[in-house]
Amino acid sequence: MGQQAKAIIRSPATKQAEPSTRTRKSGSYPSVHSPVEQILYLQRTLGNQATQRLFESGMIQAMIQRKEVSEKISGTIPLKQLVQRKNGTDIKTLDWKAGVELAENAAKNPKTKDIAKGYYIEMVVRAAQKVSAPAPLVDKKPEAGDILWSWTTTSEYAATTDPKKVDKAPDDYWKWLQFNPGAVQKDEAFTVSTILHELDHAAHAKALYNEWKKATTKKKETWADFYLAHYTKWTEKEIKIEKAGAVGVLAGLPEKIRPSAIEFRAYANQFVNYFHKLSADKQQYMALAVILFYPLRIQKVEAKISDPTLDVSAARQQILDYFNSPPVKDKTQQDIIKIRVATELKSALFLFRPAEDHAQIKMDFRDILDYPVDSEERKKARKNYRPEAP
Ligand SMILES: [Zn+2]
Repeated sequence: MGQQAKAIIRSPATKQAEPSTRTRKSGSYPSVHSPVEQILYLQRTLGNQATQRLFESGMIQAMIQRKEVSEKISGTIPLKQLVQRKNGTDIKTLDWKAGVELAENAAKNPKTKDIAKGYYIEMVVRAAQKVSAPAPLVDKKPEAGDILWSWTTTSEYAATTDPKKVDKAPDDYWKWLQFNPGAVQKDEAFTVSTILHELDHAAHAKALYNEWKKATTKKKETWADFYLAHYTKWTEKEIKIEKAGAVGVLAGLPEKIRPSAIEFRAYANQFVNYFHKLSADKQQYMALAVILFYPLRIQKVEAKISDPTLDVSAARQQILDYFNSPPVKDKTQQDIIKIRVATELKSALFLFRPAEDHAQIKMDFRDILDYPVDSEERKKARKNYRPEAP
């Protein structure tokens, strides 16, 4: 059973921005904070009548407002106050980025961690409304109570799907998933795409579970053993990533990568649905994941495995089709996306995948990797790329 833990499917998170701990410059603010204190301060120094006149003229209100705005910008509002203020308003009414920032800020303080958890879960629920679970799952949009949360983050995993939990609740896939703060990022599309990635694992686990249920051999193995055997078969031996750690984007990926048909399928699905909606940095990450998890050995193995949902060549074809005809609404972005795909996949392959793997991958993704892109076009595409709304 100990080994089973290894079979948990996880989605790598990209590195979170360092929490910005802002230190307050001492002396840059007077020792009065609240509006009331400020008025009292003015009363003391200017006298009642002068203060009254200022108040009537609207000057004080303007000063207070300015101070509030400047506090917001400089981040000097005490956390408690921030949470209290926002607590009155519904996090659901904040725009995406503001909601994520609120959750991140609240999480920094042990006293508001529970509130932060609620915020994070709200954001997961919100993102999940934009994704439909793939078959054979029966789509069910989650409510806050459906989301399992963990504060345990490594820099590596944003969410996990635990196949061990499938047989305990075969019809409630939200119970198989667990999210952590790495899943909720300021790039909304990326957060939505992470959820799709997990749902893909869940769909795969469910398809496999249905196969296992159907099996009627005398010595039927347990679901856990059945899954583990399957997982092992479709996961290749570890590859050494070239220049690991040298490039920032790699900081978000696990140190060791085991190419895997299961992961590749989930990344391919994530890629073709979201590449044109992600920021350029996240596009780079996405391309890297697709290249690093692409399995080689499996292509040659004539494995008979009862898993109709796991077809590496079909997943690869999805990416080739995407490249040939990027599904963007704004047709002027089509060529830009093609260039972005070719650029990012090429650099991911040549910079990070071991040299002995290049030949086969070049063959398998020929259309994309042979697509000529000069450095001028590359720069222009990055500059003119506009992500579509998620
Ligand atoms: Zn995954």
